[in-house]
Amino acid sequence: MTELVFRDDAYARSCAARVAGADERGIRLDRTVFYPTGGGQPGDTGTLRLASGAAIAIIDTLKGDLPDEIIHVPAPGTALPEPGTELVAELDWQRRHRLMRMHTCLHLLCAVVPGAVTGGQVSDGRGRLDFDVPGSSLDRDAIAAGLNALIAAGHPVMPRWISDEELAARPELVRTMSVKPPSGAGRVRLMEIPGVDLQPCGGTHIRNTAEIGPVTIGKIENKGRQNRRINIAFA
Ligand SMILES: [Zn+2]
Repeated sequence: MTELVFRDDAYARSCAARVAGADERGIRLDRTVFYPTGGGQPGDTGTLRLASGAAIAIIDTLKGDLPDEIIHVPAPGTALPEPGTELVAELDWQRRHRLMRMHTCLHLLCAVVPGAVTGGQVSDGRGRLDFDVPGSSLDRDAIAAGLNALIAAGHPVMPRWISDEELAARPELVRTMSVKPPSGAGRVRLMEIPGVDLQPCGGTHIRNTAEIGPVTIGKIENKGRQNRRINIAFA
């Protein structure tokens, strides 16, 4: 099992670690700051710096088969490190920070648009959510104004843990129908923006909504019956 440094500290840019194993799928470490693809957020990229001075470029991060198993995917043709090798795992922080800002922004969009979320995706500099709502009910300018007001208000963003039982008793907390909350370990991590949004989420977030910065709303696309896609980009 990998110690998930990013879960308690999304601002950790690097950590010392030891190679637990490496095969054709990628490299496993005893601890990592690299977030794996999941919950609509892409996996991290970065560098593993070995004591020898060698550097291994990591082009993607994925979940393994075991709970809390993280696979660091090296660039093609990379020589794999031996188990036990000590190294420093270092994120491409600029990219990760943009992903954290956009991911947190999608939480705010949930608060601005009433209706069930049927899908979503964060990418570098952009993000989108799909809502199960009638198309005529969405006003692009009003959504942009509401979203930017919540960003500018500087709301704190805080993690909170509840038990699986508490979550099961409060199904209204789960806004995203397509993304199953991370449960089964006895407790579930909630992200709370007090008075704005509260939902289970295992992703990485910034500490304060002001850190997101101004955003623009792109096209609102019709993706089928009562399914509207709202596209966001940094202004
Ligand atoms: Zn989140």
